[in-house]
This record gives sequence, structure tokens and C-alpha cells, in this order.
Amino acid sequence: MTTEAVIQINYTPTILVVDDEVRIREACRLVLEGCGYGVSLADTGAKGLELIRDQHFDIILLDLMMPELSGFDVLAQVKALHPDTVIIVITGYATLEHSVDAMKKGAFDFIPKPFTPEHLRVTIAKAIDYTRTLRDIADTRSRLRTLVNRISDGVMCTNHEHRVALANPAFLRMIGCAAESVIGSGMDDFLDISRIREMIRNALDMSDAPAMELTEEIPIDGHGQSEEMILNVRCAPFRDRSGRNIGVITVLHDITALKKMDRMKSEFVSMVSHEIRSPMNSVLMQIQVILDGLAGELTDKQRDILTRAHLKIENLARMTTELLDLARIESGLITLERESVAMADLIRDQVAFHLPFAASASIEMVVDVPETLPSVLANRRNMEEVLSNLITNAIKYSPGGGQVTVSAAVVNDYLRIRVKDTGMGISTEDQHRIFQRFYRVKDEKTRYINGTGLGLSIVKSILESHQGRIKIESQQGEGSRFSVFLPILTG
Ligand code: ADP
Repeated sequence: MTTEAVIQINYTPTILVVDDEVRIREACRLVLEGCGYGVSLADTGAKGLELIRDQHFDIILLDLMMPELSGFDVLAQVKALHPDTVIIVITGYATLEHSVDAMKKGAFDFIPKPFTPEHLRVTIAKAIDYTRTLRDIADTRSRLRTLVNRISDGVMCTNHEHRVALANPAFLRMIGCAAESVIGSGMDDFLDISRIREMIRNALDMSDAPAMELTEEIPIDGHGQSEEMILNVRCAPFRDRSGRNIGVITVLHDITALKKMDRMKSEFVSMVSHEIRSPMNSVLMQIQVILDGLAGELTDKQRDILTRAHLKIENLARMTTELLDLARIESGLITLERESVAMADLIRDQVAFHLPFAASASIEMVVDVPETLPSVLANRRNMEEVLSNLITNAIKYSPGGGQVTVSAAVVNDYLRIRVKDTGMGISTEDQHRIFQRFYRVKDEKTRYINGTGLGLSIVKSILESHQGRIKIESQQGEGSRFSVFLPILTG
């Protein structure tokens, strides 16, 4: 049973029989009450209309040929009063002409006199099915309308001409629109945020990939109520049965408070890191002085302990530097300084830089990059950091030697850079987690490999701030392949 069926409300259909022949009225009552329906009777058109004004009927069985007010007059008035009432006409002399005429005026069906109880039952059952469907549609629409109007996220639905079919109060509030309703308006008439309009247009033009949507975080002014709002905007096209895009659903989620908290957290982390970095560097220098023998001879045991302490503090110092980097990237400071970066040279430089480290780990480095590649608009230091992190990891997590290949190619409007290794690989479960801050895979193989768990979260943050993304393919024991996508600088 479907959920819809579970919450369907049971009701007894109500039927009114309007006929001047007592024999017909009573026969109908007998048959229909026998089926469990609620039946009312009227012997003239006028009495029928009186009842209809007082009470809603699902179905009206209406004799066309009655003295005074004819069935056709009653039909016209019922259609005006209750357009959703289903009318079945009873035709005394089975002329097709009358029946067709009545159907044209809005009757659902007709029964020619004389009719059998079975014929009546079948015709009524068909009509009840129809009213049930109408009622279900009306209920579903009302449920949906209440749901959409109550939720705190902004929701708008536009058609293929960008006209509004639905926009809830939260949507209008978030975009700063004072109008009560914008149903039927073109979005250009009331939606002042050009980036959202652009996203809706792009979503409508999106090709046939299923479940595709456009997502963006857009800062907008707070319409006099607050300083600035940050909206998470999602636009998804919806399609007709032949798969054509026929409109777009836009959902707005206010993430201002979340962003503010995130910024405060980053500021705190960066303040703490900054404060502990200098004392840690001075401890490192002092240990180095002792290790160099400048403070007197050391026993082997003392040297061993101090070397291990030095290594641990070095790790901590690296972590504070990386935390500061991450805080800077997330605050958007670094990415402001962007330039056109020739990636082919940058990749080759990074590979050359890591050659000694690879050699010390018995790893062969392979570069497969075309002579020239299109440029990307990026922060050069960020790009070096992305490659350096991926190459270092590829070498670090390939303990038994092997090969690391760095390649690049143009894929659609993106530059794809791949770093592939033949190392230990990453389990499917961990592939989702390794981009989280401080996450490190903990097992026998990684136990003695140094790291902070921050490298990949830095890579991810950098790529997000460059409108790029990263993808990982890996199998445990068989190596990993990280693919970075960066939008190509056009024009
Ligand atoms: P770190 O290397 O400092 O621990 P990262 O954020 O760079 O931090 O990586 C997170 C984790 O992802 C690592 O601890 C490691 O377990 C796993 N990892 C990253 N790159 C690879 C790789 N090429 N092969 C196998 N595991 C990897």
C-alpha cells in the first residue's frame, strides 16, 4: 500500500437524484443505498437546486426532461455553483443529440431510460472513481501548498518562460520582495538578484543528466533588516514525460549564521595557531642547539630522546602552519590574488621539486603532460600547494616503492590534473572521510607515516574557492587516483 493510500480519508459518496418520475427516483434510491451511498431525492429542478445550495453532492443524477425547470437549466446552474460536482443525465428518449448536448455543457455521462440496476451501478461506480481522483488531486495540492508555505526555506517554481507557478512567503522574504503574491509574474519583474536569475536560466538549459542541480552560495544585502545575508541557492530543472525541461525549482537556505560561526571558529583557530607557533619554533631551535652538541656532550640515550621530541614538535609546528593556511583560504584572502597560471610548467616544476623525495622512497615519477595546456585563473601558491599535497601523499602512502604518474588533459571546459600512485589505496568508507579536517586512516600500514590530516582538506578548500573539484578513485592494496578539475580561463 502506498503512503498516499494510508493517509486517504474515507468518506461516503453523496448522490442526489432529480427526476419527476417517482418510480425512477425510488428505484435509484433502492439500488444506490444498497451500494452504501448517501442518497437524496428531488422531484423538480427547483427543489433539486434548493438542496444543492444547502449541501454539496458528489454526484447528481439529473432527468433532462422535466416540466418547468428543465434538466439543462439545472445543469447550467450546478456547473456555476459547484464545478466539481459530477452530473449524469437521465435521458427519457435516448436521443444521441440530447446526450451529446448535455455532455458538451459539462455532464460527465448519460443513462438512457429505461435502465437496469446493473447499468446504474456501473455508471455510478465509474463516476465515483472519477470524483475520488479529483478529490485526491485536490487533497495532494492542498497538502503540498501547506507544506511549501510552512517550511522555513524559500521555494519557488518557475515554468519554461520563467513565469512563477509557486513562491512561498519565505522565498519572497529572503529576496526582499514586498509583494503578497507573484504567481504568474515573470521572474525578471520582481527578482532583483541577477545571479539567481542567471542560475535559473542555466538550470533550464541544462542537458539531460538526471538529478543534476546547480548550487551556489550567494551573498546578498540584508534588505535593511540585517547587514548581509548568505544564501545557499539550489536550482534543479524538472522534466515532462519526454524528458524535456519544463521548469525549475529554486530552493533558498539562509546560511548566514552558519557562515558567521565558521568564520569565528577559523579566526579563533588562526589566533591560537599564531600564538603557539613562535614558542614552538624557539623550542625547536633550542633542542637543535643541544643536538648539535653546543651545550655539551650527549649520551646516545639522550640524543635518541631529544631526536624524537624534535620530530614531534616539528609535526606540531607543521600542523599550526597548515591550520593557519586553512584559515586563510577559508576566509577567502589568498584567492583574491589570482592570475593567469600556465599549468603545464607549474606541474613539471612540482614534479621536479619532489624527485629527490621520490628517489629516497624508491619511487619512479612519470610526467604525462602536453607541451602546452590552457591557463587557469588561480592563485599560484594555492595551485602549488594542491599539487604538492597530492604528490607528497602519493609518495608517502606507497611504502613499497612503485610508480607515481602525474598527467593533465582538457576535459570539456575543465583542466583535469591526475596524480596516480601504485600505493596502499584507500577503502571505500575512508574515501569520503579523508577530506575532513584532521582525518587520517588509522591502520598498521599508516601507523608510522607522519601527517596532520589537514593536507586534503586544504586541497578541497582551495579547489572550492576556485570553482573546481576533486575526485578520488581507489582500491585498497591497488593504489589511488586523485583527479582535480579546474575551470579553464576563456576569452
Ligand atoms: P596527512 O597525509 O597529513 O595525514 P591528508 O589530509 O593529506 O593528511 O590525507 C588524509 C589521509 O588520507 C591520510 O592520512 C591517508 O590515510 C589518506 N591518503 C591520502 N592520500 C593517499 C594516497 N595517495 N594513498 C593512500 N592513502 C592516502
